[in-house]
Amino acid sequence: MVETQPTAGHFINGRYVEDTAGEVIDVIYPATGEKIAQVHAATPAIVEQALASAAAAQKEWAARSGTERGRVLRRAADIIRERNRELSILETYDTGKALQETLYVDATSGADALEYFGGLAGSLTGEHIQLGADFAYTKRVPLGVCVGIGAWNYPTQIACWKGAPALACGNAMIFKPSEMTPLCALKVAEILVEAGLPAGLYNVVQGMGAVGATLVEDPRVAKVSLTGSVPTGKKVYAAAAAQMKHATMELGGKSPLIIFDDADVENAVSGAMLANMYSTGQVCSNGTRVFVQKGVKDAFLTRFAERCAAIKLGDPLDEETHLGPMVSEAQMNIVLDYIAKGKAEGATLVCGGDRLERDGFYVAPTVFADVTDGMTIAREEIFGPVMAVLDFEDEVEVIARANDTPYGLSAGVFTNDITRAHRVVDQLEAGTCWINTYNLAPVEVPFGGVKASGVGRENAKAAIEHYSEIKSVYVGMTPVDLAY
Ligand code: NAD
Repeated sequence: MVETQPTAGHFINGRYVEDTAGEVIDVIYPATGEKIAQVHAATPAIVEQALASAAAAQKEWAARSGTERGRVLRRAADIIRERNRELSILETYDTGKALQETLYVDATSGADALEYFGGLAGSLTGEHIQLGADFAYTKRVPLGVCVGIGAWNYPTQIACWKGAPALACGNAMIFKPSEMTPLCALKVAEILVEAGLPAGLYNVVQGMGAVGATLVEDPRVAKVSLTGSVPTGKKVYAAAAAQMKHATMELGGKSPLIIFDDADVENAVSGAMLANMYSTGQVCSNGTRVFVQKGVKDAFLTRFAERCAAIKLGDPLDEETHLGPMVSEAQMNIVLDYIAKGKAEGATLVCGGDRLERDGFYVAPTVFADVTDGMTIAREEIFGPVMAVLDFEDEVEVIARANDTPYGLSAGVFTNDITRAHRVVDQLEAGTCWINTYNLAPVEVPFGGVKASGVGRENAKAAIEHYSEIKSVYVGMTPVDLAY
């Protein structure tokens, strides 16, 4: 059992709630395969409680000043930072990601979002538009009850990235975590209430896709923000469209990372490492198609393999460990299947390629070279520590190949030629691009995809657009001018 474990499965109207009539969801610690907790999927009664309490609480919250709302969020950020270690340990139990990572990028990134949107809340305004004697003004109004649906790779961060801007704008949020990682969002809810958030404004309900679908389809819900796969995104976006609801879709990718001959090879290796191995490869924006210009291919592959050999894979609670297991046995098997396809379709295995012989769902960091554009491992999102290296000759060719994918989440370029860096980035079809670095996603920068990778943006001021709408008010200052 986890010491810091939440005391029940759902968090509704300011307190923990359980309904054991719901289907049991076992929480498995990925490093051992052991069951560490269980929650129950939300029953219709639980979903109803969540919706009714959110709808009831939202109006009073929206009537408060932005500064007041922001103060609550900033207090929650402080509490999260004070409890970073225990929250990081919980994140490690939930996901299997190494504590060495979770101590720095999960609860802390959630706190960043609460702090940022807390700071912004007081400055959300409309504008004044003079129209001769008449004038108009706009108001930025909240949407109402928003639903957040999470993926399993960053459960604390996703709960905050959706909750913080929603609450800052005066909405209520009902968050459904992934059924694989149900624990962390409960702590976020608990802390928000401790920080002064009125009951009902941030509810967490558990469940599989069906619970998410029920929430999205409820007419009391004004908006849905999903982080998940493209197939789920298509279903959720369609369900939202059927009732003309607002939607943010943060979906998957198969992002290109381009390394030119003139790049600093060691730095490019570090970038590619971050782009493929961090969080055991379970990052949506990973640069998994690594295009390496022919002149640096050998040096790049040699150094990458050397550095892979130094990666410490093991007990994620040991702070010396770099990488933990995959989140689940199912995800491990998906990744092993892709590795088998890479081998069968003729890619050259440079390192890794196997499951580790130990308890838990461990896959060795794996690199394939001589990958061609049509291979399955170059086309489909793997979501594991598997890097595909493709050769290229020149800039025009690589841009066309990089863009030849239905996805468009992210892209990266390593080069020391400043004009080339910007020229190439301008042509890459991706929501976020990195030059000479990779996978950094601070809250100040908008994040999201183009093409099949999504709709809308999270983080930064851009997120405000997706959690509020503009109301225009025209004010007539003279009698109505009408010919009949
Ligand atoms: P998933 O699509 O299987 O599930 C995501 C969430 O959607 C889960 O909570 C699930 O229960 C729910 N869901 C499933 N069917 C639903 C339905 N019909 N209606 C409503 N909700 C439904 O994704 P996953 O396996 O949990 O996560 C991995 C995927 O998430 C990858 O594709 C990854 O790239 C993507 N991801 C994207 C981002 C981003 O910001 N763009 C971040 C992290 C992960």
